[in-house]
Amino acid sequence: MNNRIYPEVFFTRELNSFKVKILELHCPKCFSTDIYADLKDIYVCKECSDKNDFKDLLTTEQVRDRKIKNILS
Ligand SMILES: [Zn+2]
Repeated sequence: MNNRIYPEVFFTRELNSFKVKILELHCPKCFSTDIYADLKDIYVCKECSDKNDFKDLLTTEQVRDRKIKNILS
């Protein structure tokens, strides 16, 4: 591998991590927003180490709904 070329996979990972921050997505398990993307397009929570697909991450609104549901259940 040529060391002078920044591998595309690293760029994708950084971009995906940035996307999670911008969209303020939450971990579906502990609701933390401290999430980073790994090299296989899996999103890892730094708080609880939970791994999720992008589609499984929650928006702030979904977190709110889930908390309300938990209170009511
Ligand atoms: Zn978590």
